[in-house]
Amino acid sequence: MEIIRKTTSRCHVCAKQVEGAVVVSEGKAYLRRECPEHGEFQLLLSEHGKEYADLDRFYTEVHETSSLGRTMHTWVFATMDCQQKCPFCCTDCSDEKRSDSPWEELTWEDLQAVLKDFKRGKISFGGGEPTLHPNVLDFFREADRMGIAAQLATNGLFLASKDYCQKLKDNKVKEVRISLESIDPKDAVKLGLDPYVEPKLKAIQNLCDIGGIGITLSPTICRGVNEEQIYHIIEYAKDKPAIQAFSMQGFAWTGCGIGLPKDMMMTPDEMMDVIHRHYCSCDRSEVFALQKLAFAWLNIIGFKSCLKSEFMIFVRDAGRLRPITEFINLRRLDTMLNWWRRVLPKQRWLRGLFLIPVLIGGMSLKTLPLAPMFIKLAWANLTKLSVQDYPARLLSVGLNTNCSSLNADHTVNAHCVSGCIFKRDGVLHLTNTSTELLKNLENKC
Ligand SMILES: [Zn+2]
Repeated sequence: MEIIRKTTSRCHVCAKQVEGAVVVSEGKAYLRRECPEHGEFQLLLSEHGKEYADLDRFYTEVHETSSLGRTMHTWVFATMDCQQKCPFCCTDCSDEKRSDSPWEELTWEDLQAVLKDFKRGKISFGGGEPTLHPNVLDFFREADRMGIAAQLATNGLFLASKDYCQKLKDNKVKEVRISLESIDPKDAVKLGLDPYVEPKLKAIQNLCDIGGIGITLSPTICRGVNEEQIYHIIEYAKDKPAIQAFSMQGFAWTGCGIGLPKDMMMTPDEMMDVIHRHYCSCDRSEVFALQKLAFAWLNIIGFKSCLKSEFMIFVRDAGRLRPITEFINLRRLDTMLNWWRRVLPKQRWLRGLFLIPVLIGGMSLKTLPLAPMFIKLAWANLTKLSVQDYPARLLSVGLNTNCSSLNADHTVNAHCVSGCIFKRDGVLHLTNTSTELLKNLENKC
């Protein structure tokens, strides 16, 4: 067993802070920790131990030498009401758990204050189910007036009505994120979500028909339940250019999900294995260069980045989806990134300058026709992460993980890309999402 990095983590039973380490053992990477009271627990991070260890070192080297950066994406937990009550929800929105939730509904005055104080990145209006909040439309009109990029993070059930979708558009909703665990009711049965598949697909079709609203689909993936849906949902988006992004997350053992088996947790690197198996012809080990590039880029533009988030981009090409791995020279990109990490100047602008030869080195002749689209994508992310500005031919896939005690890694959590705003005891709070979820968990264990 090789220790890659020591960190602190959380116990898988009592959620208390304990010593932890990222280790490679028999070719696989694990996050390991030991609680004096509840013993050892290890979470599989990646099947590809050697490459994952290199990625981990790259991440630490890049981030150690610079400030933390900004939060990319801030979530407003506006209400805990929800019609759907997914068994894996990371918040306490089920009927039994509602009374446990420390979060209160935000008033219109609260929401105005949130927008007034909002700095940079993107804000998501979520919950619970945000379309049940009385001020949902007011929020988007106000955000638009203030030039803030805002997203509606919904279960999509109300959007099965075309009139409601039109009302969203009329009230300046420009981006919608819909949770969708399966396009096949048969797979959704296992999660008790089968009645919702049809209205969600109708909602997506309505948004595609109306146009002008960028769609992100956001499935929660549970091992042994819907991991093959990673492929089926991506395929579903193939001929729907209004679907511009995916944010897939592994089930996290927190909130309502605390009642589910721990081994349902699937890390982003395992989700990438599914994507690679279906789409990529390159060696799996080569895909890690993409993740390194993403860390380098986020570091230069001054956003925080989560080691556990991974990325893939697809190009819609003659009726099929082709992964970006087909269009770049991954081996040369990796060599160039390893050069970049060695020189790694302290000043951010110099790092950016040094990344230019890396990008050129990673190009191939196939990259050139796509370059304008990649520049447009980079620009949309640089300014406001605005999905509606993504080029329609590209489909971005982000693989993420919600934090719980099972995957808690203090070094990584400090870089949590996600902020959250909630109301507790009548006061608004802003913190990073991993901190808040872990705190809630600790109170319950
Ligand atoms: Zn413990």
